[in-house]
Amino acid sequence: MNLPKIKEIRAYFMGGATAEKGSGGGDYHDQKGSHWIDDHIATPMSKYKEYEQSRQSFGINVLGTLIVEAEADNGVTGFAISTGGEMGCFVVEKHLSRFVEGKCVSDIKLIHDQMLNATWYYSGGGGIVMNAISCVDNALWDLYGRVLDLPVYKLLGGAVRDEIKFYATGARPDLAKEMGFIGGKMPTHWGPQDSDQGIAKDAAMVAEYREKCGPDFWLMLDCWMSQDVNYATKLAHACAPYNLKWIEECFPPQQYESYRELKRNAPKGMLVTTGEHHGNLESFRMLSDIGVDILQPDVSWCGGVTTLTEIAAIAKSRGQWVVPHGSSVYSHHVVITFTNTPFSEFLMTSPDCARLRPQFDPILLNEPVPVNGKIHKTVLDRPGFGVELNRTCKMKRAYTH
Ligand SMILES: [Mg+2]
Repeated sequence: MNLPKIKEIRAYFMGGATAEKGSGGGDYHDQKGSHWIDDHIATPMSKYKEYEQSRQSFGINVLGTLIVEAEADNGVTGFAISTGGEMGCFVVEKHLSRFVEGKCVSDIKLIHDQMLNATWYYSGGGGIVMNAISCVDNALWDLYGRVLDLPVYKLLGGAVRDEIKFYATGARPDLAKEMGFIGGKMPTHWGPQDSDQGIAKDAAMVAEYREKCGPDFWLMLDCWMSQDVNYATKLAHACAPYNLKWIEECFPPQQYESYRELKRNAPKGMLVTTGEHHGNLESFRMLSDIGVDILQPDVSWCGGVTTLTEIAAIAKSRGQWVVPHGSSVYSHHVVITFTNTPFSEFLMTSPDCARLRPQFDPILLNEPVPVNGKIHKTVLDRPGFGVELNRTCKMKRAYTH
């Protein structure tokens, strides 16, 4: 079968520090006005009073959205989005493009390996470079699907379940329950700088929603790298009476010993999870070795669909789950092919969590949202990732090659 070659790859950005802020899109932290996602959420910067209230104050939305388009020589075009903004555009146009253009649309693993190995010396195995590599990889899967007129999940071997069940991440698990989700994950608002009072306040929040949501609804806490082992251990035990299902990302990504110790210290039955800020396959092998219960890679930050499938294989060999950080269609098409992803994450991006809004609004068209907390596989039956680029968004091509 003759497949087309990749003629050109192009990178655009939207939002971030060098464009109009508050644009949303791939950089979903870049929201305008008052929003639950920027309301006194505990972070590694919370110890500085001036950065305690708002994550935007320390620059969480400084990057903006990266958009990569890949065009085949038969005119078919695929695309993907990530964070990485204008800096990601430079990496894609000036460096990664050489490994892509001229290759066959099915050469995805070869291109992926060349992108990884050509950038180790400055990527450090993560960060913006890995966001850019992920975006290229995902754009190539999208292009391959469009060339073959198949959804990405069918390219990957097909669905192992008819529908994906979701839990919702946001500030209102009670509203998530009404919308049909299986659980609600809340951000913590306090950290070690707040000592035992911080633990009491976040445990009281879990108790409040246990009361509102009843005994069976899953409740989880996302700690966004804000804690130390002692604090995380005490918080986990304080929340155990309210049947907290898991405690997530208590520490910065490289603190593997902290995760190992928390696994030892956590109440029996409470899951310890992490991974969204780990940027390479090797770090997920470490987390798997440690015994983290759920690996949570972000498919747009960890190396793309190609790396996510490798991470899932590591976890599968140990009976661990892979439940990626919410990444909408870029996750859906992959996890529906994994036997060790029994449910997935949906990130609430409406300001008060009172309605469903597509995670990457407004950059994608046809981006599905769960109905009664679920997405059926037939919803994914469109070529590639099944979404279109919203060209009315203010995108800029900052570099060419
Ligand atoms: Mg998280």
